[in-house]
Amino acid sequence: MAAGYSSDEAVSYDAHGWHRDQRGLCLRKRQADILERQGKSEAGRISLGDDLVAIKPVGAPAKHRAGEDLDEKLRVESTLAEQGDRFAQHFQRRGHHHVSEQLDEIGVAGIGADDEGLLPEMADEWPAALDVDRHTMNRARFKSIRGLSFKDDFGLTVHNADRPLRSPGDFPAMPYHRLDPKPYLRPTFLGSRTTVYQASIGCPYQCNFCGVVGFSGSREKIEPPERTAAVLAQLKSDYGINAVQFYDNNFFLREDHTRELAERMAPLKMQWWCEGRVDTVLSYSDETLRKLRQSGCVMIFFGVESGSDEILRGMKKQLKSEQILALAKRIREFDIVPEYSFIFGNPDDAERDTRETIRFIRKVKQINPEIEIVVQTYVPTPQRDGTYGKVDGKIQYPATLEEWATDRWYNFTIRTDPQLPWLPRRIKRRIDDFETVMRSRWPTIQDMRLPGWGRVMLQSLSSWRYALGVYDYPIELEWAQKMIKLRQPRFESL
Ligand code: SF4
Repeated sequence: MAAGYSSDEAVSYDAHGWHRDQRGLCLRKRQADILERQGKSEAGRISLGDDLVAIKPVGAPAKHRAGEDLDEKLRVESTLAEQGDRFAQHFQRRGHHHVSEQLDEIGVAGIGADDEGLLPEMADEWPAALDVDRHTMNRARFKSIRGLSFKDDFGLTVHNADRPLRSPGDFPAMPYHRLDPKPYLRPTFLGSRTTVYQASIGCPYQCNFCGVVGFSGSREKIEPPERTAAVLAQLKSDYGINAVQFYDNNFFLREDHTRELAERMAPLKMQWWCEGRVDTVLSYSDETLRKLRQSGCVMIFFGVESGSDEILRGMKKQLKSEQILALAKRIREFDIVPEYSFIFGNPDDAERDTRETIRFIRKVKQINPEIEIVVQTYVPTPQRDGTYGKVDGKIQYPATLEEWATDRWYNFTIRTDPQLPWLPRRIKRRIDDFETVMRSRWPTIQDMRLPGWGRVMLQSLSSWRYALGVYDYPIELEWAQKMIKLRQPRFESL
């Protein structure tokens, strides 16, 4: 076959036997501009036979074109990694430029099929961002794509059946070599070159306040430990990483898996952090917990949410307050610091909930003073089967992305000033005041900037308040925290 890629040479790729038909990588308007700038006379079409994927340039904003939307780009590139390398070889040999530069320059924002008849199969085969648009595809076909929601000809929203969840291990390895790693390896309390990594996706539980349920449908998929350890070893040897924050939704899903991963990570000598469930970790044997610590696990974040069994039941958390206390005590033996996150402001009775949660936190701190406390205000994430606190219909959510990006909704999502109808200002203020006292009395070990004198000053100023339970209006602590520039976990993260 031939393609009008260049004026003097047909582009073909017969070496790989890819030319059984005319499906292809389409070079359209934006690529055409690039090729023209590079002195090529004409853009056209490169046919890649049985490769079902077409890369489509879209009207991406300048920001995207500049490659700032790396997340999107990585998603596309990793999905295309295998083909991408072949493209690269091809471009290098024939056109003297590299496919990754092409992707950068055209601001690829999606993968679509060039042949509409192939799209449903391709959509299953290539679970990446699908840029389906009305120009390339018949709307009737939208119905056959699992995981897609769209507006039909009458403007009504249609939700198709869910797409099966895939394990991170099912995808090609991330093409880390295509990024400058410097901005992504940060000093943290874990290590001087900390990376993030996600080794599993989803969670089998159904807590009715949690956004993970919505996308994972209470399913989870785990990457084989062998691969996780191999990728981290590679990152260590290539970029010198010495610590990891795992961003798995629920890191501890199976004890045998956890043990194997710990054994494989131990030789890497990295410190690491992750998120888990209290009941799961509590059920692990001493041997597994020891191995976890030996492998470098120094802190685990637990969403404990509340000390009230009634509220935990209402949240469908499948957890009991006695388990929360038991783990606080037991995990000390293994030198792992638990980070307990509490949700304040139960919509049924926000005042009572705040009072009781504060009391429970004090109890937890007595059992294990090293526990780090995270104070959260309940902000609902809409659920298909009813949202915790029976708050459905009480909030008018934005209808556009632009509105979500306003200060009002930014503050809602990061829970600083969510403006909830069931949470009176004075209760929100009490929650904030309690957090200020807690963060002064027990400054987090994660704050590397905090000097020793600052820690002592905050603890001295706040100890009488904590001892007497006087939390209201801690103006002196607010002033001290500003002066010392205490770490703001809601704004500062990897
Ligand atoms: S809160 Fe935690 S345990 Fe519950 S569904 Fe979400 S990720 Fe899973």
